[in-house]
Amino acid sequence: MTGHATDTIAAVASATGAAGVGIVRVSGPAVPAIARALLGRVAQPRHAHFAAFRDAAGELIDRGLLLHFPAPASYTGEHVLELQGHGSTVLLDRLLRRVCELGARLARPGEFTERAFLNGKLDLAQAEAVADLIAARSQAGARAALQSMEGVFSRKVEALLQALIALRVHIEAAIDFPEEEIDFLANPAITAQLESLRVELAELLREAQRGLRLNDGLKVAIVGRPNAGKSSLLNALAGSDRAIVNAAAGTTRDVLRESLSLDGIALELADTAGLRETDDEVEREGVRRAHGELARADAALLVTDAQHVQNDLSLLAGLSPNVKRLVLINKIDLDHASAHHESRDGMIWLWASAKTGAGVDALREHLKQLAGAGGGEGSFSARRRHVVALQQVAAHLDRTAAVLATSRAGELAAEELRQAQHALGEITGSYSSDDLLGAIFGSFCIGK
Ligand code: GDP
Ligand code: ZN
Repeated sequence: MTGHATDTIAAVASATGAAGVGIVRVSGPAVPAIARALLGRVAQPRHAHFAAFRDAAGELIDRGLLLHFPAPASYTGEHVLELQGHGSTVLLDRLLRRVCELGARLARPGEFTERAFLNGKLDLAQAEAVADLIAARSQAGARAALQSMEGVFSRKVEALLQALIALRVHIEAAIDFPEEEIDFLANPAITAQLESLRVELAELLREAQRGLRLNDGLKVAIVGRPNAGKSSLLNALAGSDRAIVNAAAGTTRDVLRESLSLDGIALELADTAGLRETDDEVEREGVRRAHGELARADAALLVTDAQHVQNDLSLLAGLSPNVKRLVLINKIDLDHASAHHESRDGMIWLWASAKTGAGVDALREHLKQLAGAGGGEGSFSARRRHVVALQQVAAHLDRTAAVLATSRAGELAAEELRQAQHALGEITGSYSSDDLLGAIFGSFCIGK
């Protein structure tokens, strides 16, 4: 792939189906000629021309607006043509076919944005944010994706990258003077530089993890004995009767999913079958899935009651420390206890009643916080691959620190920093493989 495409791509950029307006977008070197053929004269840059779009035989296809954005001041950095017609699938298909007759070919998914990336209009994290913005399912997710598209995340990555390179240059300079290398690497300034880099990285990782949850929604696995009140609680949170509530133990056999938006924050809840040993084949399958659900979750919500809590805590045993844990003591109405909550043993404890609704608001607030709410104005969106890359950078910096503290082997430290730099560069695409680009842009919708 190169930054200067020789062919011209075209696609319907608007949603399919009947709509007031539909858009065909074209990008590439043939755009001026295509615009001229459709308009009958040279199109003025960035001017809305009212035009009659005709097929090769001169028959009218539609009337609409024609806009030419000359290179490089366009979305892709190439000549771009936008044809706005009536939002009819039939008309737009004919218009698209006409544009292809005039020298364009159909665009692959994400190809416009891929060209924008290759032409340096946006970096890889910004390009991904474009797709995330289009796919956003919550207000907070859309706001965060917009921040990333604007480059908020990329600029932080870039700043870190520059600091990393500066440190690497320092250390590599020391390697070139073997007599002084040991003293040089023991220099507190180097250690301080590395320390501040690690602190900044840890902060960026936290922000990126929050961004990932804003983007994907917080995945919450609800676990507990049959009849603990999991479905009732899900209903209380969702505000409707979407899960099956049944007084007989073991009703929710499969994993029941619910997407919730709590004040614009996305949650993906999975109500698992009760986790208990059973001989029933169907139920055993449900239990197996529940364990899988827990392994993938960002947070585990144990639903139990005052009587069973000591026993049920074992359901949260063996979870990765990255999974946030909440213990909800349900059915407080039976004990005439009052709703409250506290943090203890690294878990959030809540006393509530799915039946009366007491304490459900507190649960909602805690879930919102875990889902990334309260990150402030600058919250940006992130993807899992970004978080993984930042974790790799952190591991390389840890090893750099260990090398400097013990062996003072400059070559080893420099190599760790080189790898850290590479992992960081993958986020914005300063280092990227065709496979990675293919996977990222291939998941876009057509016309973007
Ligand atoms: P699940 O098997 O964990 O999904 O439990 P369900 O939500 O199906 O509830 C099992 C039974 O407990 C139903 O009869 C519910 O009405 C009842 N239940 C759920 N929550 C409460 C609660 O807070 N108080 C009382 N008294 N009963 C509840
Ligand atoms: Zn249930």
